[in-house]
Amino acid sequence: MKIQDDSWLNESTTIQPTEISTEFSESNISTVIIDPTTWLPTDSTVKPATNLWSNLKQHLPALIGIVVGICLCVILSVCICCCCRRRRIRKKKHGASYRTHSDSESVSEDGIELPTISPKKKIKSPTIPAKKVRICPQMALAKEFVESLDWDSVLFDSSHDKCYCNNCYPATWANVTDAGGQKYVIPRGWVRIGLYVDAATVGVNDIWNKWIVTFHGTSLLAAKSILHNRQFCLPGDKLIDGTLLGIRPGHIPDKKHIYTSPTIAYSSLPVYSAKSDFNSSKNYCAYKVQVVLQCRQKPNTYSVQGETIDARTTRLCPFIPNSEVEYFTEIRGSLVAYGLLVKLI
Ligand SMILES: [Zn+2]
Repeated sequence: MKIQDDSWLNESTTIQPTEISTEFSESNISTVIIDPTTWLPTDSTVKPATNLWSNLKQHLPALIGIVVGICLCVILSVCICCCCRRRRIRKKKHGASYRTHSDSESVSEDGIELPTISPKKKIKSPTIPAKKVRICPQMALAKEFVESLDWDSVLFDSSHDKCYCNNCYPATWANVTDAGGQKYVIPRGWVRIGLYVDAATVGVNDIWNKWIVTFHGTSLLAAKSILHNRQFCLPGDKLIDGTLLGIRPGHIPDKKHIYTSPTIAYSSLPVYSAKSDFNSSKNYCAYKVQVVLQCRQKPNTYSVQGETIDARTTRLCPFIPNSEVEYFTEIRGSLVAYGLLVKLI
């Protein structure tokens, strides 16, 4: 079979193959190779390292500024850390001294370790309203009675206040504890109105830790005289109303002694602590009231003897035998009153 029309073949002969070949010839390819000099800096003498150094030199002040700033920040941080550390140490020391003082008081006054409040717990949250402090009715009544006496407020120190009623001092708590190495019989049923104690007396004698607890039954007039004179009275001393303090029946005549007892059961006997009347203006009730001074007494400065009220076989205190319920001394400075014990019936 023969192709009738092959004119198209003839026409193709007019195509110049050289035109195609020239486009992909080696000579032409070589012209598209990228010359490195076209992207490198035109100045071939500038080397990269030199360029970096010039850049550094250009930004040197800024770099120095950054380095100095970092150094200052480090120094400042170290200083702040040191200050915080010192403050923490100071706070710890202060907290320790605070706890020591608080403990010494809470333990020494009653010989019982009361729960201590750390300074951290004392910080009040502004969002939480402070709880109302519950005042025991017995304490409130005793306070009302003492206020009615109209004694000078400087004689008192509320930090020594304590109530020993059944609610404030439950029956399950200790009846007897230790103070100054001797038995301290808790004055159950009484309210203690704290008295001011001279800081020098406490500091010099360490009375909260070394002195024992004793009780001194007395009249309101004699108690006021003791607090005003800042020392205990001996028989023959003039009281603040001008009268002389006498010797009680049963005690050694012509011997000037101050009498105390390790138990309030003995000191509160009517012969030592006379009852007086008190009418409350708050609840309109009438009471019989007694007062006894709670004291710290220096060990080895007194003599011990048996009861002098002719109790015979009647046991006066379940914790102290009758043969040891009375102490006497001639040394005024061996006694410090720190509480006015009040009982209202
Ligand atoms: Zn109470």
